[in-house]
Amino acid sequence: MHLTKKQGRGIIDSMKDLSKRFLGDESAAIRLGEIAKQKQALGERVVSFALGEPLEPTPMQAIKAGVQALEQGKTKYTPTQGVQPLRQKICDWTKICTGVVYEPHQIVVGNGAKHSIFNAVLAVVSEGEEVIIPAPYWVSYPNIVLAAGAEPVFVDTSKTGFKMTAESLHKEITKRTKMVVINTPNNPSGVVYTQKELQELAEIIIEHDLYVLADEIYGGFVYEGKYTSVASIEGLKDRTILIGGMSKDFAMTGLRIGWSASNPQIATACTVMQSHTASCPCSVSQEAAFGTLSDTKQASAFVENTRLQYDERRLLLMESLDKLGMEYVIPKGAFYILVSIKQFVGQKAFGVEIDSADTFANLLLEKAGVVVVPCEPFGIDNYIRLSCTIGKKDIIEGVKQLEKFLSELETVV
Ligand code: PLP
Repeated sequence: MHLTKKQGRGIIDSMKDLSKRFLGDESAAIRLGEIAKQKQALGERVVSFALGEPLEPTPMQAIKAGVQALEQGKTKYTPTQGVQPLRQKICDWTKICTGVVYEPHQIVVGNGAKHSIFNAVLAVVSEGEEVIIPAPYWVSYPNIVLAAGAEPVFVDTSKTGFKMTAESLHKEITKRTKMVVINTPNNPSGVVYTQKELQELAEIIIEHDLYVLADEIYGGFVYEGKYTSVASIEGLKDRTILIGGMSKDFAMTGLRIGWSASNPQIATACTVMQSHTASCPCSVSQEAAFGTLSDTKQASAFVENTRLQYDERRLLLMESLDKLGMEYVIPKGAFYILVSIKQFVGQKAFGVEIDSADTFANLLLEKAGVVVVPCEPFGIDNYIRLSCTIGKKDIIEGVKQLEKFLSELETVV
């Protein structure tokens, strides 16, 4: 039987609801991206501070190793956990970056850090349990927790320097709490937990027998102070699932290689999870990652060079925001700046009243050709996120446009 389009639509509309597993969607970011594209198609200049990835080219060692893998026919399934030589390199790299020693059987390579986080949460957390997430947070954590049938419990950090404290963590712990997420350096706030702060959290975590999901994929990008890995804190290594990856350090976001490092029992559970969802990480990308991590001196130099560039851009952006009188959280790590728009809420521009970061971001794009990320989906109202990965010329131009836009704002009487 052939259906007309209308009949088909009617059937779809009358079918049972789809899963409610995920919280919201990426609609704000997608909508802004669509508007930006339309503007560009009309020949208008758009400056985007929305990117969550490095713009640098992927290291040549990765490209060469990936091409060679294809030519050598490495296009079949690999072991579920990832190939052993890569897991060994990940252990070497993790030791250099964090000082923590793992064995290859403790590493599970996934298709990106996001996939590794998904595996880890689903492997450790059961239905009805709770996972504590400090807000603001990277958008995917609550959604992944919900996919596990568990409940995300948020800790407000806005009054404690955007960091979860031992006290604020303790307040949220119940009998059902299974895991706590620590993302250091943090996306979107850029805060970096100190060793002392982590030690204080560790006391509570150990006392309540919790697991820690330590997402440290921005560990290579610390500008002030020192990066301390959660797994390096006494008593935490065995209860921590340490997440790392190639996306941010090596500008390899599209190649999708991330990993978890954990105690062997959790690693086995993550491997089982992965065996039923992805079978294995992409074979060619594993070779590209192996090629990149083979020469650890070269790998460290690549990350350091990027870090220095981002530090310059971070300082330029901070200085520009200071001149505009905008308040922000000083980013000590990662490559974003979390900027407050509280002072503009209630004001009007181009006939529209600013009532949220979402409205601010939409208007800024429409009227000034500047893309920023409204942070409601990151668990914080009235903040936008700007990425420091774009070049200095673009930063200067974007800030100029932002300044013009702000000059249009007027207080509603
Ligand atoms: N964790 C955080 C905090 C992120 O910001 C991102 C990406 O933006 C990821 C994990 C995912 O990284 P990947 O590209 O390796 O999946």
